[in-house]
Amino acid sequence: MSRFPKPTIDQLRDESSLSGHAEGILNPTNEKEAAEMIRENKDLEIRFQGTRTGICGGSVPEGGLMLGTAFMKWVADPETDGDDLLSWVGAGVTLDQLEKPIRRNYPDYMWPPHPTEETATVGGIAALGSKGINACHYGETRKYIEAVKIIDRDGELHEITDPEELDRVIGSEGKDGLITQVKIRLVKKPEATWAVALFFEDEQDAAKCATEILGLFDNDPDVFITADEFLDKDSLDLLDAFREVSEALEQVPAFPEGTNAMVYAEVAGPAVKMMPSLMPLIQCAAANGGDPDKSWAQMSEQGVDQLRAVRHAISEAVNAKIARAHQEEPGIVKLGLDLAWPEKDLAEILARYRADLDASGLRSVIFGHVYNCNLHVNIIPKDLEEYERGEQLMRKWVTEGMAEGARAFDEHGMGRLKKRLLEK
Ligand SMILES: Cc1cc2nc3c(=O)[nH]c(=O)nc-3n(C[C@H](O)[C@H](O)[C@H](O)COP(=O)(O)OP(=O)(O)OC[C@H]3O[C@@H](n4cnc5c(N)ncnc54)[C@H](O)[C@@H]3O)c2cc1C
Repeated sequence: MSRFPKPTIDQLRDESSLSGHAEGILNPTNEKEAAEMIRENKDLEIRFQGTRTGICGGSVPEGGLMLGTAFMKWVADPETDGDDLLSWVGAGVTLDQLEKPIRRNYPDYMWPPHPTEETATVGGIAALGSKGINACHYGETRKYIEAVKIIDRDGELHEITDPEELDRVIGSEGKDGLITQVKIRLVKKPEATWAVALFFEDEQDAAKCATEILGLFDNDPDVFITADEFLDKDSLDLLDAFREVSEALEQVPAFPEGTNAMVYAEVAGPAVKMMPSLMPLIQCAAANGGDPDKSWAQMSEQGVDQLRAVRHAISEAVNAKIARAHQEEPGIVKLGLDLAWPEKDLAEILARYRADLDASGLRSVIFGHVYNCNLHVNIIPKDLEEYERGEQLMRKWVTEGMAEGARAFDEHGMGRLKKRLLEK
């Protein structure tokens, strides 16, 4: 019998549906304990875990031990740094656990990295460099991490403040050791935000509009686009099918008839500039074949959260669909693309994916970030044969993309699943 506590079935898998096996799980409550555990077991492979919301199997063990950060939850009082605040946060603190006290005690501030999944941990976000939908304005997660504390594979604790070392550790998927604390940089929140959903009959029109939206306020230093996301018809159909089981979608009206693509955008800035900032978005939709009368717009905090939840729900719906397929056929796990093409045009990239998908006959959804043309194509296979063909398609896109200067694993990490795309 193993001398370690046995992991639960859930602790052996992540949101990709990939599952693994391990001799046991370690759950330290502080850094001293974590260092001792790592030192005592340094001959074993140790896989670190946040809340396993990762979608590439990065936290899924292949034997050895797991070490979770579930009890490493502390948030230090912030110190000021110019206009910003800096605060040490335990690796196991989740985004919602972080956001609640910020909204309550420092309502003018925010931590920009936002992979939309509120249960993701700060340690997991730092380990992957996850950025999410706000990156089109705020950029890389690295900008909002001032320092980390990390226990290396020999059980030694280090505080890393050197910018080059931080560049290496953030996004390295736990290879350098266990991140125990992250010194996060909170920045001033925009005074007001509009969240807007624009609907199109033609997905190419939607892609063109979404691209124009990114540059709409380039001449106004006070107003900026803080989210710009694309969802195709298959995504909207899947959301409709998901309505019955999704609380987030309960209050969301039906998508307008004839819609074949949606663009979700957020524009932010001083409250006095917000009314005039809505019009350029609506005009942009109209100029690209959208019907302005069918647009949705929200400005209250609750309203913005609600519209944002629609974008988040599509990721959840896909993961739920894959989890179901995985139950029927254990070889099926998530098949999602995370390829960023900073130099390319969204409409062109979308047309490429669409042509390949149409030729393959595989069922898919396409949604994701307009910034860097990082569309997360997800294939939803009905059996193992389709899964294997889908994986071949992913491999083709990754190979072609890398040859053309795209970044292959931009925000979700490589994990165990994306590594397969490079291996065969
Ligand atoms: C519905 C949904 C939507 C999502 N949307 C987005 C999105 O828009 N953008 C995006 O980027 N991601 C997204 N994600 C993916 C996921 O939420 C992020 O990757 C998140 O940062 C993972 O955090 P976690 O705590 O769950 O990490 P885990 O999944 O537990 O771990 C992820 C990786 O980090 C390592 N790790 C975790 N904690 C530590 C630590 N303390 N020290 C060292 N290594 C560690 C693990 O070993 C593993 O390799 C989404 C996920 C879901 C389920």
